[in-house]
Amino acid sequence: MDEFVVSGAFIVTNSGKNIADGAVAIKSGRIADVGERESVLREWRGAEVIEVPGRVLMPGLINCHYHTGLTFLRGVAAASDFEAWMDDYVAPLEASLDEEASYAAALLSCWEMVRSGTTCFADMHLNVEAVARAVEEVGIRGYLSQTIADSYHFKGMDTLKVNELFVRRWRRKRGLVHPMFGPCAIRLTSKRLMLESAALANEYDSGIHTHLSENLNDVEYSLRNYGKRPTHFLGECGLLGNRTIAAHGVWLDDSERALLSRTGTTVVHNPTSNAFLRSGTARVRRLLDENVNVALGTDTAACNGNANTFAEMKQAFLSSMIQDSRETVQPSEVFRMATLGGAKALGLDAGRIERGAQADMVVLRPEPFMLPLEDRLWPFENEIVLSATPSNVETVIVAGRIVLRDGRLMTTDESAIIKRFSVSAQALLAKLK
Ligand SMILES: [Zn+2]
Repeated sequence: MDEFVVSGAFIVTNSGKNIADGAVAIKSGRIADVGERESVLREWRGAEVIEVPGRVLMPGLINCHYHTGLTFLRGVAAASDFEAWMDDYVAPLEASLDEEASYAAALLSCWEMVRSGTTCFADMHLNVEAVARAVEEVGIRGYLSQTIADSYHFKGMDTLKVNELFVRRWRRKRGLVHPMFGPCAIRLTSKRLMLESAALANEYDSGIHTHLSENLNDVEYSLRNYGKRPTHFLGECGLLGNRTIAAHGVWLDDSERALLSRTGTTVVHNPTSNAFLRSGTARVRRLLDENVNVALGTDTAACNGNANTFAEMKQAFLSSMIQDSRETVQPSEVFRMATLGGAKALGLDAGRIERGAQADMVVLRPEPFMLPLEDRLWPFENEIVLSATPSNVETVIVAGRIVLRDGRLMTTDESAIIKRFSVSAQALLAKLK
């Protein structure tokens, strides 16, 4: 279906006014028209029409920081801190992951994200080709990188080579898979690997996905080993810029925020993970006020429990409210972080329902208590952030293709995904006992 109209919804456009009784025409993967229902239907007479009366049509959510492979660790209890979590659970699991397990975890993750209204995600994983296969099969957009690191089980230069091959293979395909480089984190990735990652990203004109100042140990390590704070170290390595997404950014000083703003680097806020791993509370208000682009990420299910961007939006609002009142981030701002902020971070023309943008959209079936469908004294986006859950997600469209319809995955077999994951999980967890 190359051309169709979604009609009769309350449209949250993220671009000017919301539309009470609207319709959107989709053609060749893009939004071809948006406006009042009657005028769009008149203009697109003859096109197939999907009627969604009483529903909400909104831009697809973008999850800008995830690790598909760690989905096997969902339900791991909160460890005492990041180190214990990494040493006791993450490192042993990752050392056991083969291509098949990574593929099974990525399929499950992609399916979970689509069901949660997420149309695009950024991932860092050690078997990146397996993740790419899953992305294509499920039909979500994936900005994928290999974990480049030389500590624990990571194989240093080999990880960079795998990432380079991946970028070379996928960069010209212009499909759902977008390759990036993934120099992992200051304490897991040597300066040499950081520098070489930056050089290759530059050579291939590719994006970069990294971690930044997730916890205080990162800052102490950077000061001790490099004589500067982590953001300045990344800058010295050539890793900052408007193609870079830096996850967490919990411990930043004024000079670091200024540098992130000046270089156009995106900070990905992961409030659930930051609480789960006792990392700290990111000061997002300051980032926004200093014109740093902020996107939103769930981080892995191993430090979240879910890949649910709705819950993450609410958590982002609440984590601002437990700080000083000057740190408040409004729900509507959080909504923009999870849509426009993510799109800008990845260089994707999406995050809004506007003519010409990518047709990445979600139809919500609102609960009766979410009515009426209109902006009131507050924007309707607030209600999505505070009240919506994945159970409201009815239909998901990615690149103009219907991936989920009436809650059912249209692209591949859901029961096969679950079975495959459960077989891998049993084998892996038996090994770890
Ligand atoms: Zn991470």
